Order: sequence, then structure tokens, then C-alpha cells
Amino acid sequence: MESSAKCGICLKRSSVRYLDYLGKHACIHCLYKIFRKRVRRLISDFKLIDGEKRIGIIFDRSPTSFISIHFLREIYPEIEFSVIPKHTLGKIPQKVEKIVDPKCLEDFGEFFMERLLNGKFQFLEVREGMVIRPFIGVPEEEIRILLRKRYKCRGKWREVERKYSKFLREVQKVRAGSLFSLLKLYRKLKLIKA
Ligand SMILES: [Zn+2]
Repeated sequence: MESSAKCGICLKRSSVRYLDYLGKHACIHCLYKIFRKRVRRLISDFKLIDGEKRIGIIFDRSPTSFISIHFLREIYPEIEFSVIPKHTLGKIPQKVEKIVDPKCLEDFGEFFMERLLNGKFQFLEVREGMVIRPFIGVPEEEIRILLRKRYKCRGKWREVERKYSKFLREVQKVRAGSLFSLLKLYRKLKLIKA
């Protein structure tokens, strides 16, 4: 939702998005700061990136795959990131130590719903062997805004089809931030197990 409102965080710049889960408008700078903090925290809490020199990023033309490339190259200039087009996944470069799977918060919710309706209580893991998912805490719409307004990304991303998109949107309308609650639950369970 774009509007002429001011950012409710820095109180200076114009809003690019109303964050209903915070009850505040955010400008592009504050949105980026929230995004960076969220991703970095997941990376450090789960030791997703821990001294690796070469990491591969699965590229499937989703908004999350675009931002994975922009953001990770920006904050880890010392790491060599290679782009692995999804259709070549069978041929992962051997020198790669970890692989970024570009999944966002909606993918996390979708996976949970799918499993739940199949009678399983299961989450999309943040870390699974050499596969890491540092962006599962970020709503896809925020990623799209950052790509357009911060990264000036001209790439054409595809709309990701999800079976439960509509349902999850409705749930979020009833209770803002419910997907974040799901992620919080996952983190709590992980901490208990650890
Ligand atoms: Zn701001």
C-alpha cells in the first residue's frame, strides 16, 4: 500500500509501505533496515553463513531469488556467490559449500499449511544440510518493494503461484503478523530441541 504518509519510524521520509504488523508506515530506508536486521539475525542465530568462501544461490526468477543475489553480494563482499539456475540444479558446482534456497515468509506459511492439511506438523527448515534459507522471515511484498525502490532491479521476476495464497492473505487480514507468529513458534521449538 503506497501513500503520501510519512514514515512512522524515522518520522522523516515518505512511506513506501504500511506495515500492518507494526501498525506503522515505513520509508524505503527503514524498510531496508528492518529487512537487513531480520535476515542477518536468522543467519547468525542458525549459523547459516559461517566462514564459507563459496556459496551458490538457486535462481528461479522469484522475487526472493533476485533479492538473494543483490543483498548477499552486498553484505558479504568477501564471499564468492555463484548463481545456479534452477533447471541446472542437478549440476551444482562442486566448489560450492552452501546453497541458498530462495524462500520467503509466504513459502514458509504455504509449506506449513500443506503439511498440516496432510496431517503433519512440519516446518520448512531454515537449514537443511548444505541448503540454507535466510529469507524465510521476509514477506514477499516487502521484497518486491526493496527490489524496485532500493536495488532499482530491472529484472523481470515471476509471480510465484501458491495454493494457499488467498487463504494466508485472509488469515493475515484477521490477525496482522500471523505468519510471523508461525515463524516465532518454529524458532521456539528449535530452541527447545537444541
Ligand atoms: Zn523511515
